[in-house]
Parts: sequence; structure tokens; C-alpha cells
Amino acid sequence: MNFHVMTLFPEMIINGMNTSITGRAMEKGLITVNAVNIRDFTKNKHLKVDDYPYGGGAGLVMQAEPVYLAYESIEKKLSKKPRVIFVTPCGKTFNQTMAEEFSKEEELVILCGHYEGIDERVLEMIVTDQVSIGDYVLTGGELPAMVMMDCIARLVPGVLHNDVSAEFESFHENLLEYPQYTRPEEFMGKSVPEILLSGHHANVEKWRREQSLIRTAKYRPDLLEKAELTDKEKEWLVQNLKKS
Ligand code: SAM
Repeated sequence: MNFHVMTLFPEMIINGMNTSITGRAMEKGLITVNAVNIRDFTKNKHLKVDDYPYGGGAGLVMQAEPVYLAYESIEKKLSKKPRVIFVTPCGKTFNQTMAEEFSKEEELVILCGHYEGIDERVLEMIVTDQVSIGDYVLTGGELPAMVMMDCIARLVPGVLHNDVSAEFESFHENLLEYPQYTRPEEFMGKSVPEILLSGHHANVEKWRREQSLIRTAKYRPDLLEKAELTDKEKEWLVQNLKKS
């Protein structure tokens, strides 16, 4: 999977992605991250990439031309038109299903805005998807781009040690993950649930499923509405939610 990030702060992208699991994935060549500096494509001598908004108002807007030229420099090296994601608070909210869809692309271009945003005309020309990482406003698109790349990269085969671990996580089947425990068995008087020490695989699976149901009902009832539960599970949840 090859990420191409159009940004005014390429070092932020490279330094952020170069660590931990994504860093190892880059070393192994499972993912590549090409950070393209939009400022390299300005034609004015002061390397200015922004200007005042037409119609007035606060702040500055990134100009269309350098963004377009930066895009062209990426596109001309690819065999077909890539998917281009503009990260913006105005986009659809990013989620695991979107990440799964994006992870099927071989090339993914991400465009990061800054200041008040980007001239709409170039967005109309090059952008295929507009994606937000949540209902809040950040100073730039670099963190959203990294959030998305981190999430998408974990779904690329080989990036996680164990591919199964990406399959049984929160949001899989619209449920949150069950609680996890590791050694020691007792920590400051609190014990690991006994069932996890039983070695009885089927009972452990049942307990985990029930914990997922309870957690999702408590913290994300909106998700639970979309999850597929058996009648028995629905009944169990009604009886046990109050007790928990
Ligand atoms: N004026 C814009 C608005 O009200 O929608 C906000 C611009 S923001 C200060 C600068 C850039 O940060 C945006 O162009 C976008 O690329 C990025 N950004 C900020 N918040 C974001 C979010 N929640 N999701 C995705 N990108 C975001």
C-alpha cells in the first residue's frame, strides 16, 4: 500500500509514521509514505501558498495552483487515477468500515489543508472523498492524515504480527472489544476474571462475547443498534445490563 500525502509539513508526516508498528511496516516495504511538500510547487519567489479569501473573512486560504501541481506530480507517476482523500471537518466521519474500504487501494493520496482550508476549485478537480476524523477543528490535516494512515496500515496483510488481531477488535460487527488482562493474576488486590484462567476455550469465547455486548450497550448504544444479536443474546443483555 502506497500513501502519498500532500502537505505543507512533510517532516511531521514522516516523523509520525516512522515510529513503532507503522515504522516497521515502512522498513519492511509493506507500506510506503511519500510526503509531498505543496510549497515546492509555488511559482512565486516568496514561496507563498495562501492568500486572502474572496468575499472577506478571517484567515487565509491555500491557493489552488500549488495543490494542483503537487497532485499532478504524484498522478503522473501512477498507472491510473488514484483515490484522493481531502481531510476536512466538512467530510464524512472516518470509521473502521471506511478504513477497510481504503485498505483495498494500492495507491492512496491524502490532501492536508491548513489555515482556513483550500480553494474549492482544486478540490472539485482532484478530490474523490472528503473525510473528517471527528466533530472538532484542528489546525491542519496532518494529524487526521496520520490517524487514517495508521488505521488503514494495520489492515494491510503482514503489518500486524497476527492478522487475526485486526479482525476481532472494537467495531468489528459493530461491537466494542471485551476487556483484556495480562500478568500478574492479581494486581493491588484485583484479580483477573477466573474464567480467563480456566483454559476452557468455549467458555472464554462466550464470556468475551457477553462482555462485548455489555460494553457496547453501556458506552455505544448507537453501535449496538446495528449489531446482529441472537434473540437469546438480546434477552441475556436485558437481564444483565442492570446488574453490571
Ligand atoms: N475553516 C475550516 C472549517 O471550518 O471547516 C477549518 C480549517 S482547519 C483550521 C485547517 C485544516 O485542518 C483543514 O483544511 C483540514 O485539512 C484539517 N482539519 C481540521 N480539523 C479536521 C478534522 N476534524 N478532520 C479532518 N481534517 C481536519
